[in-house]
Amino acid sequence: MQLRYNTSLSDREYVRDHGWRAAVLPCCPLHPHGGCSFSRHGTYARVDPPGTRIARWYCPQGHCTFSLLPDFYSAHLRGTLEDLEQVVGQIEQSKSIEAAADALRTDDITLPSAIRWARRRLRLVHAALESVVRAAPERFLNCRPSVSSFQFELDVSSVLPELRKFAAAYLHLLPSPLGFATTRQRHERFQHEMGPDPPNPLA
Ligand SMILES: [Zn+2]
Repeated sequence: MQLRYNTSLSDREYVRDHGWRAAVLPCCPLHPHGGCSFSRHGTYARVDPPGTRIARWYCPQGHCTFSLLPDFYSAHLRGTLEDLEQVVGQIEQSKSIEAAADALRTDDITLPSAIRWARRRLRLVHAALESVVRAAPERFLNCRPSVSSFQFELDVSSVLPELRKFAAAYLHLLPSPLGFATTRQRHERFQHEMGPDPPNPLA
């Protein structure tokens, strides 16, 4: 389970100063009154930026690991939210997703792979922004689910890190890479709260 690590460090400082060492999770989120064998469980590495590690804890009774993800990182996706936002913003401004993918991926990658890479990021970020609009319609009344619309309305250069803070209490419900919920987790919550899916009339 991913949890928010509210740190004042920048992403560069976090890597340089080994900011994961200062991360603290004072009690087990599943057993806040104690009674379990909750303890620190080392760290795991993120590929990008190189050298990044994330602090982790484990509750054996709950069979659950907890990791503290700093606000600047994408959840369940490599890299930072700021870099991701730049990519999606460039795709939005581009005349086509093919042109954006070709311009963004100058490394040794085929164009179809670059397009898949770009399309996935666009889809994930727009879905997350749509969830934000649905969760707080009055606050984001004039926002469309796009990076450019949120940047304009919030008047900040990087909206995704801002939204991570704004939605801090609801990150377990918001889809990654902004929130911490994977598609499977959101589906399971829906099943838990709403019961089984209704029969598909098209099946
Ligand atoms: Zn526990």
